[in-house]
Amino acid sequence: MEKRAELYSGKAKTVYLCEDPQRLVLGFRDDTSAFDGEKVSRLARKGMVNNRFNAFIMERLAEAGISTHFERLLSDNESLVKRLEMFPVECVVRNISAGSICRRLGVEEGLDLDPPTFEFFLKNDALHDPMINEYHIRAFGWAGEQDVERMKTLTFEVNDVLKGLFADAGLILVDYKLEFGRFGDDVLLGDEFTPDGCRLWDVQTRKKLDKDRFRQGLGDVVEAYEEVARRLGIELG
Ligand code: 5GP
Repeated sequence: MEKRAELYSGKAKTVYLCEDPQRLVLGFRDDTSAFDGEKVSRLARKGMVNNRFNAFIMERLAEAGISTHFERLLSDNESLVKRLEMFPVECVVRNISAGSICRRLGVEEGLDLDPPTFEFFLKNDALHDPMINEYHIRAFGWAGEQDVERMKTLTFEVNDVLKGLFADAGLILVDYKLEFGRFGDDVLLGDEFTPDGCRLWDVQTRKKLDKDRFRQGLGDVVEAYEEVARRLGIELG
């Protein structure tokens, strides 16, 4: 699939138009950012690792009956996806307390959350992705009532599939962020699932193997992503 003009460049991916108007090419770059773009770095191999990681996860989700935008790998750093009309919201499920929930609610890191929590955030760096609820989404027209229900259902279905997948690799899926979009009448999982957008801890040691290594200056960021990929049996170039 021939890629054409650049449509949009995000903090870690570039999105290109291609000859099929219903498809896009996602280019995973080595750029890494945190704190709404305030901390940025280039981490060699990260684009390739995340591209292959995302492909693997999207394929496992599709096998489990969860429709995603992913079509196929095009190269080390690029994947072909369906072109969705994205909802400007992030869906976060947490199995264990970490990150912003600890800061917002004053709870300690590492608590089991039963049931897992669900939160919506508005995708808006300038406003620091504020937490919102279903009423905001509907009142401001960011998505419809059925879309909201579908996003919640799919986000929890992803939890059921991925918690087990990571557990089999000796990893705890602490939390993750998903983004969805409309494709015709369907709501599909879009964006990416990589260690940039989830938290993964080693089940024995609770060592962090995700983007918190970058956020917290712990080092060996890509090495940790590669360790997760190796445990999952993902082939890296
Ligand atoms: P928190 O709300 O604790 O900062 O994030 C919860 C989960 O969602 C974490 O796994 C985090 O990596 C992911 N997440 C939240 N917002 C973003 C975002 O804007 N970009 C990315 N890549 N991940 C996010």
